[in-house]
Amino acid sequence: MGVSMTVDSDIGSTAAQHAANFRSNAYTPTDLFEKVNAKITSQNENLNAFISFADEAALSAAENATQRIKSGENGALIGIPIAVKDLLNTAGQRTTAGSKMLEHFMPVQDSTVVQKLKDAGLVIMGKTNLDEFAMGSSNEYSAYGQVHNPWDLSRVPGGSSGGSAATVAARGVPLSIGTDTGGSIRQPAALCGVMGLKPTYGRVSRFGVVAFASSLDQVGPFSRDANDMADLLQVIAGHDEKDSTSSHEPVPNFKSTFDHGFDGVKIGIPSELLQEGVDDTVLESFEHAIHEFEASGAIINRDISIPSIKAALPVYYLLAPSEASANLARYDGVKYGFSALDGRNAEEVMSASRGMAFGPEVKRRIMIGTYALSAGYYDAYYLKAQKVRTVIQKEFNTALNEVDTILTPTTPTTAFEIGSKINNPIEMYLNDLFTLPANIVGLPALSTPCGFSDGLPIGLQMIGKAFGEADLIGYAHAYQSATNWHEFSPTNE
Ligand code: GLN
Repeated sequence: MGVSMTVDSDIGSTAAQHAANFRSNAYTPTDLFEKVNAKITSQNENLNAFISFADEAALSAAENATQRIKSGENGALIGIPIAVKDLLNTAGQRTTAGSKMLEHFMPVQDSTVVQKLKDAGLVIMGKTNLDEFAMGSSNEYSAYGQVHNPWDLSRVPGGSSGGSAATVAARGVPLSIGTDTGGSIRQPAALCGVMGLKPTYGRVSRFGVVAFASSLDQVGPFSRDANDMADLLQVIAGHDEKDSTSSHEPVPNFKSTFDHGFDGVKIGIPSELLQEGVDDTVLESFEHAIHEFEASGAIINRDISIPSIKAALPVYYLLAPSEASANLARYDGVKYGFSALDGRNAEEVMSASRGMAFGPEVKRRIMIGTYALSAGYYDAYYLKAQKVRTVIQKEFNTALNEVDTILTPTTPTTAFEIGSKINNPIEMYLNDLFTLPANIVGLPALSTPCGFSDGLPIGLQMIGKAFGEADLIGYAHAYQSATNWHEFSPTNE
């Protein structure tokens, strides 16, 4: 890896390695673009990780980056190829949200995150595949076909940001962007053996991101290691006046914690969550990770209690569909999006358009959400779920007064076979058992590789204090310095 420093030998490198190679003139961003473009296009035949490629726009971004580097600019990610989930608007490039509804949707404006990536000189290679409107845990609900897990093509990559996780795992691009409403960055990161971070709610702008559940949605990075993750979060974080929910909290240097290590770090394990439905091999890897932290000086507390944490799953599956049903009301077949033109009146056009262009899971969510919000049921469902959300929030705050971070496995199992859960929505929803709570309470959480079972990766989740991303990335950095789980790749690169 990276010894001879040519674009061919280093094509699968991390962003930091590419940046060093650009600086030493081993190759330029334009050289890298050509190779990466060829690689991800050919990988797509098996993986289906991309819905569209940026081609000319990416080439000219790469040429521009090559000039910027020549003229001595030193932004960490200038010229680095990146993939963006097809839920973020890209001006002049199709943004489908994984749905037939937006098959021909061409945004006129970039989302703030995409604008920031472009300003920082990153080269957006294409838009990645996802479950329709980000609803799903397996990528089986995309209108653009199944994404395959690079570790085993018969298995799911996780979801909903499955394409973003799969291409980083397959060493297609070193970085990608996903969104996480209930686990959609961390869960596929775990199942594909890469790193993924859901920032604190409000840390990253949601402007120009197709909305799923607005009180839960966050945009975040995928990478191979903590160093690249810190660099990418540095680019996308910060207040945005175009998103009223984005925070004014100052953005720290996300590498400022890199020399802290684990000495004296207080780690909490919510034992309530680890009782049932978790694979033994996942628990084994999780325990190994805890020993690793302990050996490096961390103080483990297995008695922290978040009694209501188990309610996070039912709470989520009321709140998220409710917000989704409101957000998706705008797709009426009239203003924009797919339109069934043969209706005799507005109602028929709307009903036919929505009936034809939404897939089964999206319809299920709209029905659950509309029901939960309807007069007579609102108090019993939506309002009750909001109240339980407040209880969970209080319990998390109490727990995080006692410890610095809360650790869980990221997912109860490793990547499952395509088709094995598609007919059982409840079983599918249980994938999110460990990831949902952080969205419910708005806290930052990341997943980093911590082992393998039968050749399939396992992820470790760390949940942090509000706006404590630097701490989490620092812990991951320390863990990655002590272990090498994050270095394995399905392509042996
Ligand atoms: N799997 C969860 C769901 O289906 C989470 C999705 C997400 O985070 N976007 O809603």
